[in-house]
Amino acid sequence: MTGGAGASGPVSDDHAPEPPGWSCGSCGEDWPCAMKRSRLLQEYGDRATLSVYLGSCLAAASEDLRNVSVTSLQDRFIGWLPRGPRNA
Ligand SMILES: [Zn+2]
Repeated sequence: MTGGAGASGPVSDDHAPEPPGWSCGSCGEDWPCAMKRSRLLQEYGDRATLSVYLGSCLAAASEDLRNVSVTSLQDRFIGWLPRGPRNA
């Protein structure tokens, strides 16, 4: 009688980051991977809120990835965000 909390699949499709390497838990790319980026854009819609979230991820990742330059981490976590006013 194990009230299993439904494992809805063998492999997670969350595309969540996996510290300390910060690779994607689903596809293994550097996080945020292409799939996660498009999902984040859909989930947040608002670039300002999303950049706050990514900023906190960047802060956590820079603790783990001390051998990676801050510049390249910023580029990786935030640099992909589309620029300019684009309010739909
Ligand atoms: Zn992924």
